[in-house]
Amino acid sequence: MRALLQQVTNRLHAIENHLTVRTQIAAAVAVMSIVLVGTLAAGAALISYRNTAALIENSLTGTASTASGRLDRFMATRQQEMKLFAELQPMQTQWQGDPAALRSSLEDFQRSFSEFAWIGFADADGRVVASSGGLLEGKSVAARPWFKQGLDRMAVGDVHEAVMLSSLLAQRANNEPYRFVDIAVPVRDTNGDLLGVLGGHLNWDWAANLIRDVEANDGNADATLSILSKGGMVLLGANKEAIRYGGDELARIVKAGAGTFRETENGQQMLIAFHVGKGHRDYQGLNWIVTASRPASVALAAAISSAQAILAIGAATALLALSLAVLVSRRIAAPIIAFTREADRIGRAHGPTMLARQSGSAEVVQLSRALRSLLRRIGLAEERTKEAELRATENATQLQEDMLKLRRLADTDFMTGLMNRRSFLAVADDAVAYCRRYDRNMATLMIDIDNFKRINDSHGHAAGDESIKRIAEILSQSIRTTDKAARFGGEEFVVLLREIDQETAVLLAERIRTSIEGARVTYGNAVIPITVSVGLALFDQNDRDVQDVIERADQGLYVAKTNGRNRTFLMQAEDERAARAA
Ligand code: GH3
Ligand code: MG
Ligand code: MG
Repeated sequence: MRALLQQVTNRLHAIENHLTVRTQIAAAVAVMSIVLVGTLAAGAALISYRNTAALIENSLTGTASTASGRLDRFMATRQQEMKLFAELQPMQTQWQGDPAALRSSLEDFQRSFSEFAWIGFADADGRVVASSGGLLEGKSVAARPWFKQGLDRMAVGDVHEAVMLSSLLAQRANNEPYRFVDIAVPVRDTNGDLLGVLGGHLNWDWAANLIRDVEANDGNADATLSILSKGGMVLLGANKEAIRYGGDELARIVKAGAGTFRETENGQQMLIAFHVGKGHRDYQGLNWIVTASRPASVALAAAISSAQAILAIGAATALLALSLAVLVSRRIAAPIIAFTREADRIGRAHGPTMLARQSGSAEVVQLSRALRSLLRRIGLAEERTKEAELRATENATQLQEDMLKLRRLADTDFMTGLMNRRSFLAVADDAVAYCRRYDRNMATLMIDIDNFKRINDSHGHAAGDESIKRIAEILSQSIRTTDKAARFGGEEFVVLLREIDQETAVLLAERIRTSIEGARVTYGNAVIPITVSVGLALFDQNDRDVQDVIERADQGLYVAKTNGRNRTFLMQAEDERAARAA
């Protein structure tokens, strides 16, 4: 259970992360308003439906009760009329007098109250003495329930078909059998002795008229009324003489006295109101059940439409709330969206940038202020870092330059500006390796000023220095850019000649020597004659390194010196080997 809850929570969080704030606020407000409005509208619709339905049901019950009351009052009145007639003073002489006169009186009565199909007087033995139209006169009605009851008290008999009387009456237009309700009243003389029974048959048609009248004039125009006997049999209305209700259903109706229920009739829901007649004054009543029925859809149309109207208003309100939700969510989410856009822009911007001021709520204003302050600080820090970086770069460049200068200094002879011994050897080593690998030629010259001590001695050390510088200049001018000249120490120089054959090397050495010889070296007013001796050696594949070549050149220099100075001597590798072997 807990795991499931956790799973649901995680899933919700995952969904949340995909929804924008705007959607979330809109959804929350929408759900809230729909639930609220929906509940309210549904409740109101239900209450309205119930109230309206109750009103409609009451009205229909009123129709049934009106008809029922009118039926009872009608019966009570007829009964009262019979009773009054029986007790009329002038009639006292007639009950036992001339039957013709009695018949005439009875016919007068019938004319006044046309609902009576027949009225007659039977003596205490049940023989009809006189009657309207003379019908049944002389016949015995002793066995009839109305007569038997009428001997004792005022009595009413429920609707029935009077076969004997029907046969005597003119046939009805629609061929329907006559149906009657009996009223019987005991007739007594002034002493209270029973003379006979006054009986009347009410033609049942009046009830049909009454019902039609109620149907036409009552508020529920489309209501159909029926009259049922207390036994549930249809006395008037559709399916005449069928038992409409029986058993528990009938018992419930009779017990309730009045009310409504629903019933499906031919597939249509009907609203049925009923009222059970309880009599009126002296009239005990026959407990007729008047039902008024209307199709539920028609009867409850008002209730349904009022409920529908409320639901429609609810839906409209919910829709309005939905639009409001969208508007509100837009309004609330706007600063967040603006922040996001700004943050995105700041993320892409180069260099320090500032967040635009945001508004929308106190929190947004405060957040905007805080972020602006943060960005200001970040901008400052960024600038400082850049400055530091710049300074570091400058320092590094300076350092590199210094290092280069230093290296140049380390590689250069201070006095002449030529390469010094160390840097020369490094370059010469590379040249030897190159010549060995690619079988190329190179040569070295070893140059020494002749009798330099003498120059120092006769012109001074400074003049000696000046001479050294001058010779360095001449050397630099005499060689190709690919060749290298170095001061090896004191007044000794070495020259490296690349890609050169023996002949050219000798020529070049000689040219250097003669250039120096021909140069006018002056110091103060003195002109200093200078010559040099040159030892020349070419690279030989047997040489181990540059030192071997230099050494051979040095041997050549020695020979040049010993041979009289101011000359060049080429020391051949073979000669050197032979000398070494010797
Ligand atoms: P030679 O080479 O012809 O045999 O005779 P030399 O007099 O030149 O003899 P050597 O080469 O042996 O002597 C070199 C002298 O040069 C020794 C030293 O006093 C002097 N000398 C060395 N370096 C310098 C320098 O830088 N400046 C000056 N002025 N003199 C130097
Ligand atoms: Mg020397
Ligand atoms: Mg010398």
